[in-house]
Amino acid sequence: MIEKYDVVIIGAGVGGLTCGCYLAKADLKVLIVEQHDKPGGYCTSFTRKGYRFDVGVHSLGGKTKGIIGRVFKDLDLDALVKVNQFDPTDRIIMPDKEVYLRADPQETILELKKQFPAESNNIERFFRFIMQENFLNVYKSVKKATVKELLDSYFNNKELKYIFNVFLRNLSIPAAEASALCFVIFLREYILDTGYYPEGGIQSFPDGLTEIFKSFGGEILFCKRVASVMTENNEVSKIVLNDGIEIKTNIVVSNSDATTLFKEMLDVELKERCNTDILKPSISGFAVYLGLKDVEEKVFNGFSTTWPFTDFAIDSQAFLNEERVRHKSFFLTEIAFSTAHDLAFLEKSAKISMGIFSAATYSDKKWWVNREEEISDCLVAEAQKIYPFLDSHIDIKIIATPETFRRFTSNREGSFFGWASTVGQIKASFFPQKTSIKGLFLVGHWCTEGGGQGGVPKSVFSGRRGARLVMNELGRAWGYADYFL
Ligand SMILES: Cc1cc2nc3c(=O)[nH]c(=O)nc-3n(C[C@H](O)[C@H](O)[C@H](O)COP(=O)(O)OP(=O)(O)OC[C@H]3O[C@@H](n4cnc5c(N)ncnc54)[C@H](O)[C@@H]3O)c2cc1C
Repeated sequence: MIEKYDVVIIGAGVGGLTCGCYLAKADLKVLIVEQHDKPGGYCTSFTRKGYRFDVGVHSLGGKTKGIIGRVFKDLDLDALVKVNQFDPTDRIIMPDKEVYLRADPQETILELKKQFPAESNNIERFFRFIMQENFLNVYKSVKKATVKELLDSYFNNKELKYIFNVFLRNLSIPAAEASALCFVIFLREYILDTGYYPEGGIQSFPDGLTEIFKSFGGEILFCKRVASVMTENNEVSKIVLNDGIEIKTNIVVSNSDATTLFKEMLDVELKERCNTDILKPSISGFAVYLGLKDVEEKVFNGFSTTWPFTDFAIDSQAFLNEERVRHKSFFLTEIAFSTAHDLAFLEKSAKISMGIFSAATYSDKKWWVNREEEISDCLVAEAQKIYPFLDSHIDIKIIATPETFRRFTSNREGSFFGWASTVGQIKASFFPQKTSIKGLFLVGHWCTEGGGQGGVPKSVFSGRRGARLVMNELGRAWGYADYFL
């Protein structure tokens, strides 16, 4: 470590790492400080008894046409991270039918038209609208709309609307509040260019970024936490680590939770601090990771990410909270089979891992932990309804509560996607990437760059954009093509 860095980045999530790569590549002296012992934040994997699990993110979107593809190209990441595409990508189980989403968007469109023939023209119109080259047109028409308004303006069939709503259920935001702009960006980046899985697991993506970062001279410090960001004359002057070590810098890029940054880490009061009391974080969740032995693909009807639904209420906000748990009213948001998409891994070990997720509110530190065995059994029982032979394959079980997610990443209340992307919360001015103090920048899912927050493509986008803002601040040229989400 040296005494002074051009830039210090707090956190090695995909937002911080992306930003670090561009800055290190521009010959700046960059240090990333990460509290965990590995990079990636929510985009990490862990191994138990030979099973490999992806903590949160279980596939990448936008690798061919989106921001992830752009970053792979800019940083020459294809040489390090081999990414394959699986198909079908998603299986939506409804009370009376199943719908599969495909890697090829044209096939997804065909599938929807087949299932909802009376809506064929509307489906064509909708996809033509969201896929158009000139995104500015889309932006202008959906900027202030909710998802409900957008879907109502195209479709009549409530089941079809509900399929689009699947992904909001993941975010647990009612369609009448969710930002249509964020939703359209999500569809473009994730549904129409989707199903990418890196060889070696999701961890390979942040590992690849870390390697690129280091190859350009970037330094990364693991198992250290940034405790404070200090200022002098209204300008960033240094950071202090949890062990008291001080590191000088005039530029800090924060990939960490915004509430902790503005309320606890900074020694000055900024306007953003008030906004941490006004904006609402997105939902957290409860996860059960299962290691499955002796599995044949047909037991699970393929390994597409599975979204089970029991009703068609477009505005239902399914998440677990204390009341639902007390009433034993359980549901599953999503089931993912991550290693099943890594053929190289399966050839060696044939160990399938399954992640069962339910959106859940945070409550307090102990509430979920005290009930975790009972809740996980109920969630496995829900999954068993879809996969009747599941219990005869379970080899190991690992549980994560909202507190687990908070503890590992310091994200407020274990929030999965940063600030909730409601129409009222996506304004860039709430948490601008260039903050109101000189030298402090934000990247990741707690900045509000204007298009909604949450998810790997958006955090990566903000990381790239954050690097550009820093370069601008330092009077350096930005030699890359423009990219608008
Ligand atoms: C269960 C789950 C499933 C998900 N599924 C998907 C999916 O399929 N697709 C998708 O696109 N998105 C998904 N998401 C959301 C996505 O993972 C996140 O939005 C995205 O990864 C956030 O990246 P980030 O860089 O903004 O922040 P984070 O991943 O939160 O990383 C922040 C990093 O900063 C570190 N840090 C924080 N404070 C400090 C400090 N003071 N000092 C040092 N280090 C610090 C943390 O340890 C962490 O490594 C999922 C999330 C979860 C939890």
